[in-house]
Amino acid sequence: MPTTKGRQSRKSSKAARSLRAWLSKHKQLDSSRPTRSSSSSSSESSNSIEDLFINSLYLTTASLSSNNTLNNLCTSQQKIMAYERRKNNAVADSDEMDFYQVIHNSFLLELMRNTICIGCKEQWNGKIHIILYCSLAFTCQKCEHTIQINTSKMIPDTKHRDINIRVQLGAHLAGIGRAGVAKIFGTMNIPPPVKEDHYEEIDRKLLLPCIKKFQHQSMQAAIYEFVDENEGDPTNLTISEDGTWQRRGSKSIHGIAAVLSCNTTPNVLDVQRLSKKCVICTGALSVKNTDPDLYVEIINNHDCESNYDGSSGGMESQGIQDIFKRSVPNYQAQYTRYIGDGDSSVMWNLTQHPPYPDIKIEKIEDINHWSKRMLYRLEKLTQELKDTMLDPEKKRKGIGGVNRLTKDK
Ligand SMILES: [Zn+2]
Ligand SMILES: [Zn+2]
Repeated sequence: MPTTKGRQSRKSSKAARSLRAWLSKHKQLDSSRPTRSSSSSSSESSNSIEDLFINSLYLTTASLSSNNTLNNLCTSQQKIMAYERRKNNAVADSDEMDFYQVIHNSFLLELMRNTICIGCKEQWNGKIHIILYCSLAFTCQKCEHTIQINTSKMIPDTKHRDINIRVQLGAHLAGIGRAGVAKIFGTMNIPPPVKEDHYEEIDRKLLLPCIKKFQHQSMQAAIYEFVDENEGDPTNLTISEDGTWQRRGSKSIHGIAAVLSCNTTPNVLDVQRLSKKCVICTGALSVKNTDPDLYVEIINNHDCESNYDGSSGGMESQGIQDIFKRSVPNYQAQYTRYIGDGDSSVMWNLTQHPPYPDIKIEKIEDINHWSKRMLYRLEKLTQELKDTMLDPEKKRKGIGGVNRLTKDK
């Protein structure tokens, strides 16, 4: 019981947070509406974040042979070349130094102690102070002269540090979230990541719009590549589909259906999220009785996450149906054959509600799923018949054993 209670309170606090976020977003929209400058600056900022996002994706997905700065710097040859350039008093190329270095504070102190203070012209001896996690101040003990440096750049036109956005992007790419980052930072003896509320705000306001845009462009490119490989014919494409749920079993609140291209390099062509609940709607219930007007305002004006009210098991077929239906308006493409697993009601739904007029969609059985089910049934049969005499002449029971059904691969 305590577990359930804890879970419920966590859920309701998440709903309350989302509600607060909705309210603050709404207020900001109202106050920023008359001014054009604020909207233009927000579009500029999203460009910078987009650049960062795309660059990070290249870095994390590029092959080892790719020509990126980080990989190049890791090779001994590049280090020697950089050393040679430094020795010849060449000015360091700013691009070459555009990366982070994790350094223990004691070494920074050691570096400072090897310099002369510009305040008192004596050998520096003092302390480091950390200001707001993003600046370091070095104060000389003798003359109190202070030098301040930042530990990360600001992203132009935003209040966010480059490093914080990178960490968050990395957490998404690695699928570990803020909690995972906190563990890594804790192990590395690095201060914790930005607070949870701030983290969620960055996700919602900055990263989500970029990811959505990137997702759309990536899927559009995948369709072009797919049609090219299909001899330029967008009306007769073979795709593979599958669905997955946030939780196992048939009670999941959220599910996803995805369609992939069946070409040399399979790519994701489209995804559909299906949710039975919305955190804003749930959060709004807390003010329904105390402030009915606010409740109605929230319900009518938010971008509702809830888009499905059937059984969780039916999410896959509904999602695939939605994806098929929008393939023509979104991509001018038709999926006429699909590879799917044998357990879903996808085919039934596509036959009952044909997405394209006068076109019959054909199903190709997924060999992996088919083999898995075949194996399961054969193993069940072997177990059931193991004590039944099926071959009295050779005195052999069941269907298993040498020269018959074995478990050898
Ligand atoms: Zn000094
Ligand atoms: Zn809602």
